[in-house]
Amino acid sequence: MNNRTTRGILERLKSGVVQGAEGYVFELERRGYIKAGPYVPEVVLDSPEAVKELHREFLRAGSEVMVALTYYAHREKLKDVGRENDLELMNRQAVRLANEVAREGDALVAGNICNTWAYDPQNAKASSRIVRAMYEEQLGWAVEEGIDFVISETNDYLGEALIALEVIKQLKLPAMVTLASVQHDQTQDGYDYVEACKILADHGADIVGLNCDRGPETMLPIIENIRSVVSCYVAAQPVPYKTNAQYPTFESLRTASGERAFPLLLEPFLYNRFEMAEFARRARAIGVNYIGICCGGAPHYVRAMAEALGRTVPASKYSPAMELHPVLGSHIEEKHKEFLADWKG
Ligand SMILES: [Zn+2]
Repeated sequence: MNNRTTRGILERLKSGVVQGAEGYVFELERRGYIKAGPYVPEVVLDSPEAVKELHREFLRAGSEVMVALTYYAHREKLKDVGRENDLELMNRQAVRLANEVAREGDALVAGNICNTWAYDPQNAKASSRIVRAMYEEQLGWAVEEGIDFVISETNDYLGEALIALEVIKQLKLPAMVTLASVQHDQTQDGYDYVEACKILADHGADIVGLNCDRGPETMLPIIENIRSVVSCYVAAQPVPYKTNAQYPTFESLRTASGERAFPLLLEPFLYNRFEMAEFARRARAIGVNYIGICCGGAPHYVRAMAEALGRTVPASKYSPAMELHPVLGSHIEEKHKEFLADWKG
């Protein structure tokens, strides 16, 4: 177990917004360490320094939580890439790497579990047993290596999220459980997202909300409704892509020629850092307690969000000072000035 004296997640949330950062799999794919398609975090064993570097970049940019890179490091997924035998080592190593970097600052370590692809509501009893065993296995190792709380995320099914919650509570750890929101307004097992979060809260989740799939425009309206029905903490970790009413998720975005942009053609839809800073401010105004970012996230967004929340972080030392640019310094365009003026709120 961890023996650091740093304040825990619930203590931090009690005194204000906690900032997180995710999107490790997406970013390490872009950096050439993870294969798009299976998206298994083999990098944890193959290039551990690359994982530590990204943790460190998020830490310097203001993330207070190092999320162990165990996303998709479960039995089903490792089978797909023929690395089932590396399962335990990959999980343990991911938590160790997160701990090593967390100690470089004052960050917490979150164990991480996600949708398993094994849950089947048509065969709930038998599939629940399989899912539970996968979660117990992954989190058992994580607890031995030392975690402060658990993030169960991108849950497509409320049923599966409830299993995750039970396993986390058995381990007596704080639980953050967030849903995927791929469908219009309900989970794959037919619960309205808001209702599903209420049920999770009623079952003892400490933090509920949404992560991934949606950009701020289409995520925040749902988050606002969640905020109004639960009394526990609320999390919002959107993707930094311009989703809208017609294309509410990044999986549904289409390029100009009509092709699906997800997952490899998404760059034209990225927000800029100032827009993600604005998201952080809006989320705080709504009453979101855990503000982060998911797939597509990168350190420059995290820093802009931290500064929008009024923080000075290690990477702030190198935040823009465009007035010092030899050419642009004397005539910065108006829009850019506006962005810079709004930036720190
Ligand atoms: Zn994501």
